[in-house]
Parts: sequence; structure tokens; C-alpha cells
Amino acid sequence: MDLPMKNNLNVNIDKNFNWEIIQKELRNQFGNEIYESWLKKIVFEQKFTNHILVSVSTRFIRDWIVSRYLDQILGIIKKFNKEIIRIEFKIENKVDFNKNDNQINANTKISFIKDSFLQYNRIDQNKSFENFVIGESNKLAFEAAKKVSEKIAHYNPFYLYAGVGMGKTHLLNAIGLKLKKDKKVTFISAERFMYQFVKSIKSNEMVKFKENFRNSDVLIIDDIQFMNGKEAMQEEFFHTFNALIDKDSQVILSADRPPNKLVKIQERIKSRFSGGLVVDIQSPEHELRLKILKTKVDDLNILYNEKLKLSSDILNFISSEIRNSIRELVGALNRVASFARIYDRVPNINEVKIILKDLLNINETKITIDNIQTLVCKYFKISKNEMLSSRRSRYLVRPRQVAIYLSKILTTKSLPEIGREFSNRDHTTVIHSVKTIERLKVENTEISNGLNHLKNQILYKNENEI
Ligand code: ADP
Ligand code: MG
Repeated sequence: MDLPMKNNLNVNIDKNFNWEIIQKELRNQFGNEIYESWLKKIVFEQKFTNHILVSVSTRFIRDWIVSRYLDQILGIIKKFNKEIIRIEFKIENKVDFNKNDNQINANTKISFIKDSFLQYNRIDQNKSFENFVIGESNKLAFEAAKKVSEKIAHYNPFYLYAGVGMGKTHLLNAIGLKLKKDKKVTFISAERFMYQFVKSIKSNEMVKFKENFRNSDVLIIDDIQFMNGKEAMQEEFFHTFNALIDKDSQVILSADRPPNKLVKIQERIKSRFSGGLVVDIQSPEHELRLKILKTKVDDLNILYNEKLKLSSDILNFISSEIRNSIRELVGALNRVASFARIYDRVPNINEVKIILKDLLNINETKITIDNIQTLVCKYFKISKNEMLSSRRSRYLVRPRQVAIYLSKILTTKSLPEIGREFSNRDHTTVIHSVKTIERLKVENTEISNGLNHLKNQILYKNENEI
């Protein structure tokens, strides 16, 4: 297909795209420690024309690899396959996935066989009222959801709104979970609803589509803000909606905003949405954030043999820093837990700061190579001129390597860019420095303490203190 590539060399390489060779090279270039702890976990999935797809088991591992090693990995792959310009990661958490899948299969088996329409009707066993943690900001929503699940068609429709990651899907799911014991529940995202709608038109299955929705006792549609345009679909939705309400089926909706703020949705639909009970979840207060963290830590400890003993300092730190959404908060905790699993110990507060760097309210632009150089020079008591000179005295080489290493892990600059800021050093010098410090950090506690101290200073120092 790609004629220009049909010179011998490329054809051979293409045929031989060989992940094993690349892995060997990764081990060579990064050294055993990094390879064993991180890069070995990358599973090659597929090669495309200009990119490859790989998978790792958690987001944390992906973020770690991408933020630290991506450039270099790509460089290595390019050595063997020039045409590759990008690496795409997917998260393949095989254990969890299987577990969930079994649960779901067992639970919706009957509808699965009966009707392929219901394949998307996946209610998550793990999102219930019981494990929804309540605080000031979400109490009203929780109680309303509970009422709806106790007596359907009383508040109809029930419309729940809040920003992303605040627990909307969790509450909707909890209602579905409870009601599906004796009611026919359909739980679908608005996007999925639109997709099914279009698919049904194309395959002449509109009758089935209508029946499926109109036969529900409880119709739950998540993220209704994504329903837009498409007159015909809105028409169908409007009729389904009215038919359901008329026959006292419960309709439950969630969105990221109140009904009157929805865009591209017909006025009459919006006004129908406002006709029942409208409740919102507000930003979680500190107490709730802390309570959620503690609950999740307890859950994780049951799963991982009580290994996640996080100090109240760390819990307080995370709950004070991650304020925007509960999803981020839970995500932050999961990263800390992944670290604990990989290293078989809980991280200290400095390590937590680094693990969560991209989620914290740190002004990234403050972290410049120039600042890193300044702080490293101050720490080692050398001048910047000395650091940037070509002199190779030992008392200069080590600080230089430390500054290069920190530039690599704390900024998003590429190896050549870092080299340039160190008096035009070659990128191989940069690699060498990074490797040396990676090694010393393990062997030499003085260096590793120094690094922690410096990282902390770089990440948290006030601009005017520098
Ligand atoms: P949304 O749908 O509003 O974007 P989700 O319901 O998906 O948010 O919530 C994001 C994550 O946070 C989920 O893992 C959910 O279980 C968790 N979560 C949200 N609120 C709570 C809460 N009050 N108690 C426990 N977990 C919560
Ligand atoms: Mg959601």
C-alpha cells in the first residue's frame, strides 16, 4: 500500500517489528532498575502505520511512564521503525475487568440472552447507596435519590445535576441497583441512547427500540447534556418520555447543569425536565473529602491485606489539595495505592507530592530548568557559571547531573531541549546523567535524600523565595 516505503530496509523492518528487540534495547538504555519497575510492564498490542498501541495495567503506571520516559522510548522504537511517530497507551486492567464482567454477566444474564439491546444496561454492583459517603454538599441529592428508589413515580422525573466527578453516575447507579430487584430498569447514557437510536433507524429496528424503552418501569439516562440536535431523535425522546411518565414509570436524568441551561435541547423537553424534582450536588467540602478518602482506604485495605497505612498527614494533604472533584480525589488515592503496591511500602509525603504533581495546584510554569539550576547550585554551593561550564571536576559533575535529572523528571522538556539549556550538551549526555542519578539514588542515601529535598523545594517553593 505505502509504495515509497517499499525499499528493502523498511520492508524488512516492518515484517520484523519485534517488541522483544525493543524491550532489550529499553533495558540497555534505561538500566535494569527502571526497566524492571516500569518498562517491563508495557504490553505491546498492535502496530499501525505511524503509531503503535501498547497497554499497561493502571493509569498511574501510564502517567509515570509517559511523564518520564516517553521521549526516550519513542526514540528507541524509531531506531528500528522510522515511521513510528507516536505511542498510544491503553489501560488494560485485566484482573478487575474480568471480575466486573463476571458480576455483570451473572446479574443481567436473562436480558443478555433475550435482547441484545440490553447489552449496555450495565449496572455496577460497586456503586450503591451503602458505599456512597454523605456530607453537607451531597446529602440532599442522596436523600432524594433514596426516596426515588423507595417509591417510584412520586418525584417524576428526578433530575440530578452537578459538575464532573461529583457522584451523579454513582447515585443513578445506586437507584438502578436497588430498583432492578423487582422492576425493569434501563440505565443508559445519553450518548448511548443517541447511538442506539441511529443504529435502530439504519437497521429498521425502530419498533424494537421504542418497545425497549417504553417497556421500562424505570428509565435512567445519564449525562443528558450530551443529547443534542437531531430533531427526529428529540421527537422520539420526547414521546418516550411522555409515555413513560403517563404510565407512572420513573424517569431519572443526570446532567452537568440545571435543565434551563441545557443547550440544543428543545424548550418543551427542558420544561418537562424541570417539572419533577431537580436536585444538585455541590462541591465537596473538606470534611466530606477526608471522609471519602478514609472510607476508600479502608476498602483498599480489605483488598490488599492492610498494607495501605496512610498517615493522617498524607490523608489531610490529599484532601486539602484535591478539591475539584471526587473522581480526582479517588484517582489520587489510587495512584498512592499503586505506588504502595509496586514498592511494597507507603510513600512519604514528599513522594506523594511527586506522585500527584499534575493534580496539585502547582503553577507548572514556575518549574523551569532555570529555577532548577538555581536551586541545585544553591544546594551544592556552586555558581551557575560553574554548573554550565565544560569543566569536569567531580564537585561540578554531580550537581550538573542532578540538575539534568531533575529537569527531566519535573519538566516536560525533551532530552535535546534539556541539553540546550545546559550549554548545548548533547542529548546522550542528558541520558547518561539521568541514568547515573537513577542508579545513585538507589545506592546512595545521601543522594536520594538530597534529591527529595530538592524536588520538594522545586515543586513547592514560592516564587519570591527563589
Ligand atoms: P459523575 O457521574 O458526577 O461525573 P461519578 O458518579 O462517576 O461522578 O463519581 C466519580 C467517582 O467518585 C466514582 O468512582 C464514584 O464512585 C466516586 N464517588 C463520588 N461521590 C462519592 C461519594 N459521595 N462517596 C463515595 N464515592 C463517591
Ligand atoms: Mg457520570
